[in-house]
Amino acid sequence: MIQLYIPLNFLGVIYREIKQSLADMERLFTLLDQHKEVADRPEAKPIEIKGAEVRFEHVDFSYETKRQILFDVDFSIPAGTTTAVVGHSGSGKSTLSRLLFRFYDINKGSITIDGQDLRDVTQVSLRKSIGIVPQDTVLFNDTIAYNIAYGRPDAGKDEIIAAAKAAYIHDFIESLPDGYDTKVGERGLKLSGGEKQRVAIARTLLKDPAILIFDEATSALDSKSEQAIQAQLKEIAKDRTTLVIAHRLSTIADAAQILVLDHGRIIERGTHGQLLAANGAYAQMWERQQARQEVPASSPRPDSED
Ligand code: ADP
Ligand code: MG
Repeated sequence: MIQLYIPLNFLGVIYREIKQSLADMERLFTLLDQHKEVADRPEAKPIEIKGAEVRFEHVDFSYETKRQILFDVDFSIPAGTTTAVVGHSGSGKSTLSRLLFRFYDINKGSITIDGQDLRDVTQVSLRKSIGIVPQDTVLFNDTIAYNIAYGRPDAGKDEIIAAAKAAYIHDFIESLPDGYDTKVGERGLKLSGGEKQRVAIARTLLKDPAILIFDEATSALDSKSEQAIQAQLKEIAKDRTTLVIAHRLSTIADAAQILVLDHGRIIERGTHGQLLAANGAYAQMWERQQARQEVPASSPRPDSED
């Protein structure tokens, strides 16, 4: 009996492991499938990051041949500074971040990091250099420690804890019955939007990338969590080259550069002050958002414009 019991139990563990890694593999293959059109050049080299200056030069892009999404998009993010992109839903903001990861190749122009064309470097090295905090972080069905270490599987427990502390989620994790071994995700403990974003921040801190992308990282949060997370994002963006895709303009007012994207074209650029003074599309968006913030708290949140 005993002899049979042990292997069966063991098999159960293995089965669960396999099932879990299949779920992860599935996710991976979905990602790979979506982007299989991009391959490394035979002579591709690992990217060499110095200050991590990002340049889009006269970029045209379409996902499908018939419908062009970006038109002559031209800007640079000086090393270590923050550029924000604003614009209506569908204007092409997230496309910029997908292109920076080189999930797709562009039709015209070039994208470079420290002067190196993305098409000349290995995708592995490129993707190691960029960290993203998306709008809605999806957690793997695994422990919270695994989820934090995801970007750097070789990380030690002490590094994971340090990242969690810096993301202000360590105390919360310690309060859970199984601490860092607590299972999260769809089949585990459900985390709130703010907690998930903190896991994403810890993951990003551990990965320690030269380039950061925040794609509407706080737009799914209530305003109290948003303020807390915003403060943290600002901290980790300090001295890193950062692209912030923003929904609420108040969160990017101090960016070194703001780009206004409209139907795939940059129609305005400048600092918050310059754009207000220019009294164009940005100033109008700002006015509208300010006006909506004055409505009583019981009204719908002022964020559902696009
Ligand atoms: P934003 O982030 O500004 O809301 P996106 O960059 O996600 O906009 O999308 C820009 C346009 O590209 C939209 O019209 C969208 O429908 C289209 N698009 C996004 N992803 C794909 C895709 N994988 N295939 C085809 N069209 C896409
Ligand atoms: Mg988007």
